[in-house]
Amino acid sequence: IYDIAFKPDGTQLLVATGNKIIVYDPTDGTLVQTLRAHKDTVYCLGYSKDGLWAPEQKSVNKHKISNRITCCSWTSDGQYLALGLFSGVISIRSKLGEEKIKIERPGGSLSPVWSLKWNHKDDTNDVLTVCDWGQTLSFYHLNGKQIGKDAKLDYDPCAVQYYDQGKYLVVGGSNKKTCLYSKEGYFLGVISDSSSGWVWCIACKPDSNVVVVGHQDGTITCHLVTFQTVHGLYRDCYAFRQNLTNVVVQRLNSDIKHIDLDEDDGSKLTIKCNDLVKRISVYKDKLAVQLSDRIVIYQHETKDGESKYVPVNKILKKFECNLLVVCSENIILCQESKLSCFSMDGEKQRDWSLEANIRYIKVIGGPSGREGMLLGLKNGQVLQIFVDNPFPIEMLKIKSSIRCLDLSMNRTKLAIICDNSTCHVYDIESKELLFEEVNANSVAWNTQNEDMLCYSGKGHLGIKAAGFPSQQRRMNGFVVGYCGSRIFCLHVHAMRAVDVPQSAPMYQYLDRQMYEEAYQIACLGVTESDWHNLSQKALEDLNFNVAKKAFTRIRNLRYLELVQSIEDRQKRGENKTDLFMGDIHAYRSEFAEAAKYYKKAGHSQKAVDMYTDLRMFELAKEYVETTDPSERKQLMAKQANWAKNTNEPREAAKMYLAAGENLKALDIIGENGWTDMLMDVARKLDKADRESLTKCAYYLKQLQQYAYCAEVFNKMGDRKAHILLQVEIKNWDEAFALVEKHPEFKDDVYVPYAQWLAENDKFEEAQKAFHKAGRISDALHVLEQLTENAVNECRFNDAGYYYWMLSMQCLDIAAERTPKKVEMLKKFKKYQKLAEIYYVYHSIQRYTDEPFTSHLPEALFNIARFLLHCISGSTAPRGVSKVATLYALAKQSRSLGAYKLSRFAYDKLHTLKLPMRFQDLIDLGSVTIRSKPYHDSEDLQPMCYRCSTTNPLLNAQGSSCINCHQPFVYSFSSFEVLPLVEFTLEDGISDEEACRLIDSSSKPPRSDEWKDNDRDAQSLQMDVVEEDPFTARLLTFEGGGDYVPVVVNRVVLRSLSRGDVFIRRWAAPLRFQYFKNLMPEVAVAMCDSCFQMFHADDYELMVLQKQCCPFCRKVSDAHED
Ligand SMILES: [Zn+2]
Ligand SMILES: [Zn+2]
Repeated sequence: IYDIAFKPDGTQLLVATGNKIIVYDPTDGTLVQTLRAHKDTVYCLGYSKDGLWAPEQKSVNKHKISNRITCCSWTSDGQYLALGLFSGVISIRSKLGEEKIKIERPGGSLSPVWSLKWNHKDDTNDVLTVCDWGQTLSFYHLNGKQIGKDAKLDYDPCAVQYYDQGKYLVVGGSNKKTCLYSKEGYFLGVISDSSSGWVWCIACKPDSNVVVVGHQDGTITCHLVTFQTVHGLYRDCYAFRQNLTNVVVQRLNSDIKHIDLDEDDGSKLTIKCNDLVKRISVYKDKLAVQLSDRIVIYQHETKDGESKYVPVNKILKKFECNLLVVCSENIILCQESKLSCFSMDGEKQRDWSLEANIRYIKVIGGPSGREGMLLGLKNGQVLQIFVDNPFPIEMLKIKSSIRCLDLSMNRTKLAIICDNSTCHVYDIESKELLFEEVNANSVAWNTQNEDMLCYSGKGHLGIKAAGFPSQQRRMNGFVVGYCGSRIFCLHVHAMRAVDVPQSAPMYQYLDRQMYEEAYQIACLGVTESDWHNLSQKALEDLNFNVAKKAFTRIRNLRYLELVQSIEDRQKRGENKTDLFMGDIHAYRSEFAEAAKYYKKAGHSQKAVDMYTDLRMFELAKEYVETTDPSERKQLMAKQANWAKNTNEPREAAKMYLAAGENLKALDIIGENGWTDMLMDVARKLDKADRESLTKCAYYLKQLQQYAYCAEVFNKMGDRKAHILLQVEIKNWDEAFALVEKHPEFKDDVYVPYAQWLAENDKFEEAQKAFHKAGRISDALHVLEQLTENAVNECRFNDAGYYYWMLSMQCLDIAAERTPKKVEMLKKFKKYQKLAEIYYVYHSIQRYTDEPFTSHLPEALFNIARFLLHCISGSTAPRGVSKVATLYALAKQSRSLGAYKLSRFAYDKLHTLKLPMRFQDLIDLGSVTIRSKPYHDSEDLQPMCYRCSTTNPLLNAQGSSCINCHQPFVYSFSSFEVLPLVEFTLEDGISDEEACRLIDSSSKPPRSDEWKDNDRDAQSLQMDVVEEDPFTARLLTFEGGGDYVPVVVNRVVLRSLSRGDVFIRRWAAPLRFQYFKNLMPEVAVAMCDSCFQMFHADDYELMVLQKQCCPFCRKVSDAHED
């Protein structure tokens, strides 16, 4: 076979043999095709990726070479061609054939260059590898400069190829072998060693680890090249072989998830050994590397923050060994059943011969120089050997041979993988098999947790905590280490760090209340929520130690405080677990649970307090001990308070009700105007709860729910309140109906009723109503009360009015009820007088009490005099002040020039007890009046219209003429004397007749045309024809005697002018009163209701102002009779 070549896609293998080219399928060696294109022997093959020759070139330039060309190679960029010549010369030419560099080999023509190759296209610098029959392997740059020295071969090389993307060289030749070299030329191993003669050609299948070798005898062999993983692990320090000659040390920290053992990554700590690395061992800061002919020991150093491994020792010896182990001060080599210990200098210290081959060895630590090792033997023995001790200790022996083993963190448990892929875990002390797991071909204990281990096999990773079922997950490769929550796993040429959450095993422990263990697991790495669960579970089980640790871990200060407080309480001797549980649940907001525990602990109050604090009053109530209702109510009150303060008045009201705090509830309900609720409450209330019911009624009334309010009063049996309510809402019908049944309350109804009527000027109506109801005396009584009130309240105007009303009522009664007639008539007179007094006094009171008065001085003067006349000789009616009257008189008299009267008034005042406010004024007045003449202005003195006598200003006899005793008739506004003279009828003349007679004279009195159908009258008239018969009768009185009124007969009556006569038409049993205006030019008006007289102008003005008579308040426009 002269040459072989792969189709670039690797699907065909072309072989040049003789003058044929044979095409094989490289997968199974079947013949695909035989090409017979050449007449002569084919020495060389090449498969073009993109066609033969350059398509644009029609012909090929040929260059004469002086010597035989044995081999050639293009640089990967196709710019240069290297030719190997039989003369031992290498010629590097441009693609145009021009020689650029000529390299002369030291062996000259004795060392023909038999094979050369430019390096792989991925390398940055072009390197030419040259084999010659001077048995050397050498390397050149493109510029012809040699790289390194010649590597000596012990055979004549015939073929060289790059392998695995240029990382290695494969060389074959006269030694019939195919050997692997590093690309620097270090021998690494033998790929093939055949008896089929020299190796003439080699082809590496693209993108695979297949090497095809052509031999001299026509044999083609196909080889699969694999490299063992060579590595060592100590805790998280992982050292592995890279590219067969390098050692890379890597810390398996959290940043690293994946390490490709083949990939040359500059950031790694790489040690170039320039030799085949056969074994690696790491222990603490030591790294031992066995190379082809020596062992190098490195020490880890950190300098200026840079981490590196420095060679510290070399043992220059070619060891044959299966296993290499480094300790702090020793190197242990293991060959089959023999174990040897060397010092770092290579001095053998000890040998151990064991019963069977050693399959696994692991340093398990110990003092420097006295480390212990764990050995697994093919015969199933597990031995412990101490470096300084010649006697192995058997720890265990199993039936199957051992493949792998590991010791737990605290060295109490041993995990063994045996040949049948089962993992056995033993207790070292008792030798007891703790458990087994199948499908395991590697195992590792957690370096931080005694009870955790992981194992791998059959595409799965198993994580196991103590005796719990293992947690399985899919994973390819072998576990090699387990630190905390990370599992290191080797798969093909990659080391992976797998973060495994420890949640599952933690929960396995938790489920069994193994809190300490669960905590240990959690420490390896669990999620926040796992921590939370752990802490809560531990707390729940009162494992405060773990709980505290867990809470600390997740920084839950709140719970830490809780734990602290519970522990404190425990220290003080409290031991009610249920109580603690209650607290714990309460902290977790699991209030229902908490409450149950509190109750269980006999502390229901705590539940109550808790719910109360939470404002969950309904729930709180459930826990109130039923024996104490007051407590329950207290709770309700709290609840209500809360609701009230949180603007939930309805809730609050309900709660207060539930708490029995009816008054508070009612206030809320009432203020919010919830009538229905108010009524509901009222109906439910006990009759005896008067306070609450009263409150209900109060609010109902405020809400104008009178019917409901009445219902409440009824319920209370409070008739008076009920009646008052009806009165207040002026539901008179109902009020009267009630009074009918309960006459004791009549004042309560009639007085306000009258008041109301009075306020509404409905006295007449009222009277009618009373009359209708036959309650005339009741009406009177009411009115008396009303009058009394007015006097008490100094509403003298009203008092006057009411007295007038009273008098009229009395008159009414006198007319109807004969038994009371006399009494009533007496009362009538009395009340009439009082009505006038109060009516008049109102003006005096206003004058003395108020700074301004609407009255003219003359009016006040007259009023005061009128009043004094009324009250002289008797005690003044209640409320009427003689002082005020005299004071007013004194002042007005003085200003009007009645100095004598004024002085009299002042003197009179000094006989009376004076109020403070008048004292100074009166003193001053009584002094200054003395400077005035002691007489009264004559203009002021009244004249009697009957007898024309000038009267003094004051008459001790009263308001009548001192001469004829005719009572003065005053205008009831100015209180001037009116020119009226009263007359009476002769016996035998009825009022009706008199009126008729007067009316009949309505014709102008001096006319002759009048006619009368009354014969008698006519005849009488004819008899007594006088110019003015009335005037003639004015002076019919006798001096010094009593008052004798003017008496008229029918003739006089007939002579009277209707317009000059005023008739007070009193109802029966009174007789009418007749007055004649002696000065018809003075217009006089009389109220047709009260029969008071006025100057017509004054009356009109007052009616205009007040819309009624000032005295009787009768609304009338018929004022002029
Ligand atoms: Zn007189
Ligand atoms: Zn009147």
